[in-house]
Amino acid sequence: MEYSKLVEIYEDLNKTTKRLEKTHVISEFLKNVHLDDIEHVMLLLEGRAFPNYDPRETGVASRLMLKAINIATGTTVDKIEKEWKKKGDLGLVAESLIKTKKQATLHSTKLNLKKVFDNIRKLAELEGQGTVDRKTQLIAELLTSSKPLEAKYIVKTILGVMRIGVGEGVMRDAITWAFFNDKIGVKYTKEENDIEVEDREVYNKYLDAVQSAYDVTNEFSVVVKAAKTHGLKGLENIEMKVGIPIQVMLALKVDTVEEGFETVGKPAAIEFKYDGFRIQAHKDHHGNIRLFTRRLEDVTKQFPDAVEFIKKYVKGKSFIIDSEAVGYSKKTGQYLPFQNISQRIKRKYDIDKMSKDFPVELNVFDVINYQGKNLLNEEFEKRRKLIEKIVKHEPKKIVCSKNKTTSNSHDVEKFFKESVNAGNEGLMFKSLKSPYKPGARVGYMVKFKHIMDTLDLVIVGAEWGEGKRARWLSSYHIACVDQGGYLEIGKASTGLKEKKEEGLSFEEMTKLLKPLIISEKGKEVKIKPKIVIEVGYEEIQKSPTSSSGYSLRFPRIIQVREDKGSRNASNLLYVKELYASQKKS
Ligand code: AMP
Repeated sequence: MEYSKLVEIYEDLNKTTKRLEKTHVISEFLKNVHLDDIEHVMLLLEGRAFPNYDPRETGVASRLMLKAINIATGTTVDKIEKEWKKKGDLGLVAESLIKTKKQATLHSTKLNLKKVFDNIRKLAELEGQGTVDRKTQLIAELLTSSKPLEAKYIVKTILGVMRIGVGEGVMRDAITWAFFNDKIGVKYTKEENDIEVEDREVYNKYLDAVQSAYDVTNEFSVVVKAAKTHGLKGLENIEMKVGIPIQVMLALKVDTVEEGFETVGKPAAIEFKYDGFRIQAHKDHHGNIRLFTRRLEDVTKQFPDAVEFIKKYVKGKSFIIDSEAVGYSKKTGQYLPFQNISQRIKRKYDIDKMSKDFPVELNVFDVINYQGKNLLNEEFEKRRKLIEKIVKHEPKKIVCSKNKTTSNSHDVEKFFKESVNAGNEGLMFKSLKSPYKPGARVGYMVKFKHIMDTLDLVIVGAEWGEGKRARWLSSYHIACVDQGGYLEIGKASTGLKEKKEEGLSFEEMTKLLKPLIISEKGKEVKIKPKIVIEVGYEEIQKSPTSSSGYSLRFPRIIQVREDKGSRNASNLLYVKELYASQKKS
């Protein structure tokens, strides 16, 4: 394929900021790309020569690029610099200088896509003496045979500044439109910038299939090849490869223990939530170990200590495990917050010293592949059993994450305290029966960072909502008790649900409060103090504008306390005591 074909697409993409139009441009283009060109096209469309998990870089700075343009165009470095200042973009400078030169020489050869790709890749592979000269030559060679627009994009790609607005989402959609249109019947209309599909459910099914294939490969070229040659089956049969990272499963957040159980079910596995950073560790059957962060950066070189622990203390010829690397104090052995070890991630020198000064312990919490077997669809419970079998317990080196199975809220609260006392952030709740879903925040595991303190408060007023909440009283003035009266302690609205099925809803609350309305003024209503609600919060703060003198930071309605009359709500004295105790701790 000629490089100019890709350049036309870059130009089309640059002409619009609309996501759907970009998707359309790419999908039409992909339909006609030959299999042999797919790898190059997919990477270059994203403005890169290596997949996102590959640590290789072109290592070309602006200085070196100036020199290459100088060699290719004969323009002095001084003049190039002046143009650069004017245009602010070396790609545009190369474009205009090549234009001038081409008019003079009228020499033209066609630049091949593969040639561009290969030269860019070679830039990353050069090492040692003479590297700078060799790199300059490789770029100059491309620029010499470029047309002006080609030069612009070559320069931008090499410098890593393409910025054509093509992210993973656009690529996924474009692939779906290109190769499954007979199934989804997507119609894009440019004028309205809108799409129509025959059946949303079917459409989503295909989008998910493309996404899942990408989540385990992190290479769109692999996804396209499978879709193009074997359709949906091809996507479903794509297997993860040990050595190539997969997107990690993400966690939703919950604010209460009840919400944790509601999301993952009972009984649940609860685990310490360590404050370190995620390491996905791969060992292939040759014994090679590679480590990747949550963003799939390869950090194998930065963590020789972790590589060693995995080699020594994890049984098995090949596997992929998921873990959290946590820093700890050399003196006290206590876990340290992430900031203390974050510098290790990017470090390029003095690595051995770093691992001694800032040691980490690996806390293994999942296994995704074992001895070549894909475990994504195994239940968490089974995956957990396996890690307990294969990870040797070596504190301060590598251990299984601290874990317990329970249905009991008191157990959770105790475990939470234990975790926080050990220097951790809180707990994770995990569903025992769930698969591992790469790249997704689907609620198979949730994080729980604070146990909220709660107060039982009386609703003394409310406000009608706006928009789709207009029929509901949606914000509530809450009060504590004092000497037979009620003193306001701010407002609460978070915690209630839009839909009845999801829990205590605005509609139910409105039904409870409406008969108690005493007076109305604009959107505000006064309510007879009768309904007591349990409200969680992060902190009590002083508030000169509220009659109690206090308000709650991040109040969250937990439940209606039907068992409590308004006289039994929390009183001002108690609020004051809580405020004082929080200042001490
Ligand atoms: P957050 O970064 O706040 O979204 O929380 C999710 C992160 O917690 C994960 O990506 C892991 O890096 C980390 N984590 C710590 N301990 C665990 C654990 N036991 N299980 C799963 N993830 C954990």
